Amino acid sequence: MPFGGTHATRRPAIRAASLLASGTAELLWPTRCVTCEMPGELVCEECRESLPWICQRWACPDCGAPFGHLTCTECEHDWEMRATICALGFAGTAARMVSCLKDAHELRLAPVIAAAMATALDEASAWPARDGCSRFDLGATDAICFVPATSAAFARRGFDHMELVSRALCREEGLALADVLVRPRSRDQRTLGREERAANLAGTVFVRDDVSGLDLLLVDDVITTGASIREATRALLARGAASVTACALARVW
Ligand SMILES: [Zn+2]
Ligand SMILES: [Zn+2]
Repeated sequence: MPFGGTHATRRPAIRAASLLASGTAELLWPTRCVTCEMPGELVCEECRESLPWICQRWACPDCGAPFGHLTCTECEHDWEMRATICALGFAGTAARMVSCLKDAHELRLAPVIAAAMATALDEASAWPARDGCSRFDLGATDAICFVPATSAAFARRGFDHMELVSRALCREEGLALADVLVRPRSRDQRTLGREERAANLAGTVFVRDDVSGLDLLLVDDVITTGASIREATRALLARGAASVTACALARVW
């Protein structure tokens, strides 16, 4: 039995490889819904149907909060972007989609999130921004950029989840990616209050390439106080961007 030991130790690895190759992995470790764990899809039909979509018609054109189209309690209508579009309220499945992509590394959610954002952009294109033009105009958009992870978060996760979402959104919209923003430092925003967030971010977003004259779509996962995305918008405008339209998967209000 000169090869017995070798075979015995190799067999499980070979079997695992062939199971993966034949798609049997899906039977052993099925894809489950991020919210209800129903096997089959990342977001099952029932959870898809109960997504808390923001009606773009009634949303605040400036900060994307629902029902803020006339008077908004969430902003002073003085945000730096020309419009802000948020797809979903930050609850249930929307929140699970973000955390499963970011923290559980379910990278297949990136195109799902991008598709939800594309749906909201499409709907928002029918409604005016503060300047009277459409809140989103694909034909008047040069490129997509994203609020990047801090260098500490990137080192911890090994990827930038918003880069993945942005690349998927670029494919959806047929736009180029402008990977121009960097965020070398700043504490995690989640534990901070509104004023602390703004102070924490001041001067921490940098633009590393020329964006002069560009009309940009700037994307992020969640808008809470707007501190991160406003800081990124200010940085882009300071470097000469012609306009910034913001879009997020979810809005906290
Ligand atoms: Zn479900
Ligand atoms: Zn608002």
